[in-house]
Amino acid sequence: MGQAKLDPPKLGEPYLLTPGPLTTSYATKQAMLRDWGSWDSDFRAMTAAMRAQLLEMIGPGADDFDCVPMQGSGTFAVEAMLGSLLPRDSKTLVLVNGAYGQRIAKTMAYLNRDHVVIDKGDYMPPRGDEVAVALAADTSISHVVLVHCETSSGILNPVEEIAEVVHAAGRSLLIDSMSAFGALELQADKVPYDAIVSSANKCIEGVPGFGFVIARKAMLEASNGNAQSLSLDLFDQWAAMEKTGQWRFTPPTHVVAAFMEALAQHRAEGGVAGRGVRYANNRDVMVAGMRDLGFETLLKDRWLSPIIVTFFCPTDPAFDFTRFYDAMKSRGFIIYPGKLTVVDSFRIGCIGQMDEAVMRDVVAAARESLTEMGVASAAPPAAALEERARLAA
Ligand SMILES: *Cc1c(COP(=O)(O)O)cnc(C)c1O
Repeated sequence: MGQAKLDPPKLGEPYLLTPGPLTTSYATKQAMLRDWGSWDSDFRAMTAAMRAQLLEMIGPGADDFDCVPMQGSGTFAVEAMLGSLLPRDSKTLVLVNGAYGQRIAKTMAYLNRDHVVIDKGDYMPPRGDEVAVALAADTSISHVVLVHCETSSGILNPVEEIAEVVHAAGRSLLIDSMSAFGALELQADKVPYDAIVSSANKCIEGVPGFGFVIARKAMLEASNGNAQSLSLDLFDQWAAMEKTGQWRFTPPTHVVAAFMEALAQHRAEGGVAGRGVRYANNRDVMVAGMRDLGFETLLKDRWLSPIIVTFFCPTDPAFDFTRFYDAMKSRGFIIYPGKLTVVDSFRIGCIGQMDEAVMRDVVAAARESLTEMGVASAAPPAAALEERARLAA
């Protein structure tokens, strides 16, 4: 795997320290400078190659699975997965610890699918033992849905632990791996799951426009007739694609072309492992630098994902998030507001065409921004640290 050669944004274009859309390579953007006929054999071949390459990423167990792309943002693909793969008489346990888990529960209500929720609040991880208890207590629960990396706090949920428990209880696991797939291993022969969902503009570093579900073929075959939406019917999309090689409705042709280029770069970097190493290094360099400035992370190291990190806002009255955001932007970095309910926070993403040199520049920009605002200390309020101390070891 070797050091990836990165392709920085052109002069004047800021880095997006956000969890998608993110900073893509110039070659990926350039791949969009051609028009494709959606029915043409060249584009059909591209779709087939894309599906095969995505399947390869789940490792040796991939033969039992198939990959179905779906137009729209990631949420469209999540809704397609839930509405198509969950039978109408199913009952699902939804594990929630942030905004994306909440969105899944809300989608279940729209879909009118029976469900129960374990809600751990803003950033406590759901754990295997409590899932085991819930599944033992209610034998009518047939499925479990888990968010892999909960992007709203940046927590890396214990996916292997929960998958083992769900498998041991004989239930079916669906994973929202939107912000993790492509950078964190999710091998089908190691983690027992039935379906995962991700999108073009996260760790594969494509541009936004479609998502994809990787599901067991047996589950796809059994899903005929489940969906109540035509455009989001994953079975219908799959069946049509298998038969004709085409997307049912207008595909995001330029986005797919860009994604093929992004996939080639992903492979050149050493695949999932190589990409994961770069992101983890980005996180480590950035977090160490921010801590040197006095900032504190919401999460203890064990739960920090290599995707995005939440920091507490400093308690110093001179600190103002909007001013901090503008000061960072003027230095070429777009950061992300926080999504916590209890304390003020902001987030810095580690994914996209960035390496540790960029992350050191991010820290330098943060230092300058604090000075410009007259912030003497980046320390968070005591209440935030007390809240953090509640986090399980
Ligand atoms: C990005 C993301 C989604 C999808 O969000 P969209 O804005 O619809 O692309 C879903 N789940 C998680 C965990 C995400 O990070």
